[in-house]
Amino acid sequence: MDYQKYILPHIWDLKPYSSARDEFKGSEGVFLDANENPMGSATKESWNRYPDPLQHAIKLELAKLKSCSSDQIFLGNGSDEAIDLLIRMTCKSAEHEIILCPPTYGMYEVSASINDIKIQRVNLTSKYQLDLSGIKKAIHEKTRLIFLCSPNNPTGNKLNRSDIYDLLNTYSQGFIIVDEAYIDFSDEPSFIHELNQFPQLIVLQTLSKAYGLASLRLGMAFAHPSIIQLFNKIKPPYNISGATQKIVLEALSNQKFVGESVQLILQEKNKLQNGLNEIKEVVEIFPSQANFILVKFNKAQELFDYLISEKVITRNRSNVSLCEDSIRITIGLAEENTYLVKKITDFYA
Ligand SMILES: *Cc1c(COP(=O)(O)O)cnc(C)c1O
Repeated sequence: MDYQKYILPHIWDLKPYSSARDEFKGSEGVFLDANENPMGSATKESWNRYPDPLQHAIKLELAKLKSCSSDQIFLGNGSDEAIDLLIRMTCKSAEHEIILCPPTYGMYEVSASINDIKIQRVNLTSKYQLDLSGIKKAIHEKTRLIFLCSPNNPTGNKLNRSDIYDLLNTYSQGFIIVDEAYIDFSDEPSFIHELNQFPQLIVLQTLSKAYGLASLRLGMAFAHPSIIQLFNKIKPPYNISGATQKIVLEALSNQKFVGESVQLILQEKNKLQNGLNEIKEVVEIFPSQANFILVKFNKAQELFDYLISEKVITRNRSNVSLCEDSIRITIGLAEENTYLVKKITDFYA
């Protein structure tokens, strides 16, 4: 793949900012190069030195965990940073387009709109699968990115793997992004293993869900090293703070927590689905490969409002096309889920 054809020329030619920590990489010496405070920090722990701009220690661990190479990894301040940088490196306002498959994660659209990039929408089918012929019709020479989300938010299902392969095999005039924010809850293998096969593939993952680090903000993009170099060139130099880097390293070494959380959440999801099945006003519980379920209710809007008044906060998706009368429910702790089912039962009583 001739990447230069699909990257904006000013990005391709950009000479990046070279920080003090880019130019001297040693860890010992008298550091008088970065205008840091030599006294330490106004906190107990010391944060006075700028962090590693390329987060080498984390990438080394992630490469082992994800069976890829560390030069195939970009780390962002949440996946949202990776989404924004991808749009900015490939799309020029009033010229290029992206394809989205709604109902899906809202940030793709917001990021495209911030950058004034035209969006082609090809709705998922009624089974929440890709409309392959619709997508192929929407693709033209100005298409730069196709966003796929599997398992999908807010529907919870995984996309048919064969459909994703079909697109990967037919479209390489731009990039295909597979957002795997919920992959840790799914029985599906990651598309990271396909990176060497498909040079136009970019996989997104995050520590916000299964790792329980939503507040920390760490998103990952996995792609060909040429794409990763472009990410590194245009990102803010110190986009991952030293505190985040330290805590992420700690988290990556605690796979026990991740495994146990996923197991518990899947078990609780099963119990919640069973509980909801007992309620006759539940119209449909959509199959979920994630840590949430989309549920169609009679009188969804009223139920949602009632739950809020009872201090149970769910995500109302009733106004989203193809999610009519549906509410997205994150799987909580056992007692929280039981409380939710009780409140829903009360509402219909
Ligand atoms: C939660 C979520 C993310 C994660 O975003 P972060 O910015 O990493 O917290 C990404 N994609 C989808 C589809 C999500 O639902």
